[in-house]
Amino acid sequence: MSRRIVEMETYDIRFPTSRELDGSDAMNPDPDYSAAYVVLKTDDGHEGHGFAFTIGRGNDVQTAAIGALRPYVLGRDADDLGALYKEMVGDSQLRWLGPEKGVMHMAISAVVNALWDLKAKRHGKPLWLLLGEMSPEEIVDLVDFRYLSDALTPEDALRILRKAEPTRRERIESLRKDGYPAYTTSPGWLGYDDEKLRRLCKEALDQGFKQIKLKVGADLEDDLRRFATAREVCGPDFPIAIDANQRWDVASAIEWVTALKPYNPHWVEEPTSPDDVLGHAAIAEAISPVPVATGEHVQNRIVFKQLLQAGAISYLQLDSARVGGVNENIAILLLAAKFGVPVCPHAGGVGLCELVQHLAMFDFVAVSGSMEGRVIEYVDHLHEHFADPVVIEQGCYVAPSLPGFSAQMRPASIAAHLYPDGSVWSGS
Ligand SMILES: [Mg+2]
Repeated sequence: MSRRIVEMETYDIRFPTSRELDGSDAMNPDPDYSAAYVVLKTDDGHEGHGFAFTIGRGNDVQTAAIGALRPYVLGRDADDLGALYKEMVGDSQLRWLGPEKGVMHMAISAVVNALWDLKAKRHGKPLWLLLGEMSPEEIVDLVDFRYLSDALTPEDALRILRKAEPTRRERIESLRKDGYPAYTTSPGWLGYDDEKLRRLCKEALDQGFKQIKLKVGADLEDDLRRFATAREVCGPDFPIAIDANQRWDVASAIEWVTALKPYNPHWVEEPTSPDDVLGHAAIAEAISPVPVATGEHVQNRIVFKQLLQAGAISYLQLDSARVGGVNENIAILLLAAKFGVPVCPHAGGVGLCELVQHLAMFDFVAVSGSMEGRVIEYVDHLHEHFADPVVIEQGCYVAPSLPGFSAQMRPASIAAHLYPDGSVWSGS
């Protein structure tokens, strides 16, 4: 049976979220959540969908970068995933634009994720289950261990995966029954007033979320007041994380978090530049026992390796669409398991919840084998544009049951949000 990829379409899709200040934080006051979107089609009638998430301007650049990968994809066997990922990362000319970071790497991520969507659909399974039923050897074959072997070898990875293997079935059943715990960032956007914050905190508790998160870092007086308000609504023991979105230098991070410490932050997220491994380590030491978390802008497995080696993070927040897609995220899950650091994935934006739930569930089934200290971020925006949107029940992600990576947007949503000619932008 043939399964060659014969078509690759790309779309610049943007949502005008800045009109409502949804997603506003200390560094990104007016995001228009966007997807540089790719559709792969095979000669036997299947489609794989994937995207890179951006926040507006530049989504055209991101879409063009995906287009630059067309020669790798057209004519290829759709099942050839480990090899194709390594070839795209290793392109001798495109590699100059990274290597393994930024726009080109995110483009690879979109294509790799679309290939996984395609593969999971062809096998009739949700991605988390498809991955969770692969043998340890097959999983190890998907990973590029280059630059990792001082911290994680293929033998280490096999050991981790084999340890979890005998009990996978129990965890698959538990996911189907109870889902995976979520936390919500919806109450905490910086652009919301105190009354909206109070109301949304109350709603988060009523909906059964296990944790909330507040954006901080624009104004300390405001943050003290907003944290006090959230603490008052949620009670003294409820986990409330804070997220500075890279706002601070090392010294100001330490000062600011120290001021907020009386409100007991569950973690401080992205306190400084995502590239500053030693800075994160210095902050972690100075603000202990407040844990440091980062990952949504960590550009590849190598920086994650260093953050773990330096003891700089207590929570690892991988993103489904920034590093080189599913393959590199498997490497990152294995690294986290090796270092015993829980993965609490970044989500939100557009479609990131849909994607990352599969990775967290795969981690639970086949890698870490644990949910302890782990939650997936959840933001209640834009899910209605997806064909298989996330479902939250009692504060937990319900395990997806439809085949694929939950990446596919509805055709009408794509058409309306095309930039700049879709009806949402042109007003026509
Ligand atoms: Mg964040």
